[in-house]
Amino acid sequence: MTAVGRRPGLAVVLVGHNPASEVYVRGKVKASEEVGIYSEQYTPAETATTTELLSLIESLNGRDDIDGILVQLPLPAQVDSKKVLMTVDPAKDIDGFHPVNVGLLSTQRPGLVPCTPAGVMEILRRSNIPIAGQEAVVVGRSDIVGKPVAMLLLNANATVTVCHSKTRDLPAVCQRGDILVAAIGRAGMITRDFVKPGATVIDVGINRISDPAEFQRLFAGNEKREEAFRAKGSVLAGDVHPEVSEMAGAITPVPGGVGPLTIAMLMYNTVKAAKMRRGFLAPELA
Ligand code: NDP
Repeated sequence: MTAVGRRPGLAVVLVGHNPASEVYVRGKVKASEEVGIYSEQYTPAETATTTELLSLIESLNGRDDIDGILVQLPLPAQVDSKKVLMTVDPAKDIDGFHPVNVGLLSTQRPGLVPCTPAGVMEILRRSNIPIAGQEAVVVGRSDIVGKPVAMLLLNANATVTVCHSKTRDLPAVCQRGDILVAAIGRAGMITRDFVKPGATVIDVGINRISDPAEFQRLFAGNEKREEAFRAKGSVLAGDVHPEVSEMAGAITPVPGGVGPLTIAMLMYNTVKAAKMRRGFLAPELA
């Protein structure tokens, strides 16, 4: 790593009081403290207008000590989210959502890559899963996860199929995948009949289960989960049914798989943004 002479700075904007967003933001601020990134939190009221948020973002864009700006989604209904995200300076867009960064990714130029997709690639690389020449199937085509994951896999020379709610015979298409990425938002939807035996399965989904019947469908007989469900009334589940772990070659857990990597990549992007803004981009960060 090249020294840039000062701590990278992160500004987190959390509008209103969405409990899940508050948990995510706490995790991000804690991680930045742990790695030595300077962070500031802005908490506009639930009633904040688009104009108010635009002026906050513009003031953060203009500050030299702030390298990364994170606007926690979702924003309240009255706010034009696209307009707010478009206003973030692409050089400080550590979520990688700005069209400039989307374009840089699709043309394989150095830029800021969305954190969850970057985390998926990091898991594959660090687990020594071959990517080039492999069949990769991504279920989900959101701008935040599915599309950028597909683009990163394509850039790494996988043969990529992207599926969505209109895909015909989804299980058969998924079964082609040597690598199967589930980013759907439907608990346990990917059952064993979707998976090629021995495939690498990356479960991006985070779903909160509070319905007892749904809990039974996914976790019956799992004592640890049953205890947690009894104590809290809900548990987290991925998009992949736990039965898949019996026949996958490798699989990420939920919680504890892609989620922590998302935060790690956010830290990485903040450091990367600080370096890029000062012309210190090391080749390994490109
Ligand atoms: P979106 O709701 O934006 O996208 C879901 C995608 O899944 C859409 O493309 C949709 O298709 C597709 N889909 C929905 N139902 C089906 C179906 N029955 N068959 C096939 N495809 C279907 O979700 P996100 O991409 O934002 O998030 C996906 C999951 O990942 C969620 O559980 C979310 O909580 C989790 N997540 C986890 C993160 C982490 O850090 N681990 C970070 C971000 C998200 P269509 O386009 O046709 O509607």
